Amino acid sequence: MRPTPIIVTSGNGATALPEGVRVLRRGGSALDAVEACARYVEADVADTSVGTGGLPNILGVVELDASIVDGTAHRAGSVAALVGFGHPISVARAVMRRTPHVMLVGEGAARFAAETGAERARNLTPSTRRLWADALRQVGETPASVRRAKRLLPVVKRVIADRLGTVNFIALDRRGNVASAVTTSGWGYKYPGRVGDSPIIGAGNYCDSATGGACCTGYGELAMRLLTAKTAVDRLAAGLRPATVARRAIVDANRLADVPFNVIVLAKDGTHASATNRAGRRYAFMTSEMTGPAMRSRAAVRATRSTRSR
Ligand code: ASP
Repeated sequence: MRPTPIIVTSGNGATALPEGVRVLRRGGSALDAVEACARYVEADVADTSVGTGGLPNILGVVELDASIVDGTAHRAGSVAALVGFGHPISVARAVMRRTPHVMLVGEGAARFAAETGAERARNLTPSTRRLWADALRQVGETPASVRRAKRLLPVVKRVIADRLGTVNFIALDRRGNVASAVTTSGWGYKYPGRVGDSPIIGAGNYCDSATGGACCTGYGELAMRLLTAKTAVDRLAAGLRPATVARRAIVDANRLADVPFNVIVLAKDGTHASATNRAGRRYAFMTSEMTGPAMRSRAAVRATRSTRSR
């Protein structure tokens, strides 16, 4: 028996779920569903962690990262540090579909986006420009002073805090195919060119239709060091339940550092789970039989002295 189609997301993706579930209900693919959901959040200027309205880098430039994985054909596409386009997830999908490559970055990604007709966008909104200028002011800098600065690293270190956020989607369609999408503006006020885990296949995003999928939010550097998403999918393949897989991902992250880290996991039978190392975090899901998204608490796995090995 085929499982019921479902999409699982980080908490900030809940409002996008009806978009993707509509695709699944009419027999559409998991790949189309996760792209539709990701595009919805990318266009939401109120979400300061994704797409248009996402926080910029230290120079006030919004650099977007995104990736998409087709768990059936083991195909993937991603873009990093993409500037000037509103839907990095669709550019990532075009990288997968139209190029012999998996990942394009920076100028090359923007050139490819323009060449393939992707929609241009002014991603720095008046409101995020204000937030950026306020953050600079708090450390005695201004947009003009950072643009003139010879050394950016000291400024980044003073400004940067836990300004993280990303959206994840993992979908299972009627045919039993799994796909996953992650899109983000990355770490707010990052050093220009900083790339997180979201576009790194196997770090922030991975799925396999034979097994399931996993995606991360939080300190991307940890997911990159641990290949969290691929490790989670391998653990599903080894027979562990999503709840155990999610908790183990956080235990692994906690061994490296006590910084915010979250994971969502969907198994090919439609069971799902999420874990975090912070209190009060939620994730969301919606099946094709539900009338709206449901929110669930993420299991909290706190770092303790004994779990910190390094
Ligand atoms: N993982 C993202 C990054 O490191 C940020 C986040 O999810 O909060 O860019």
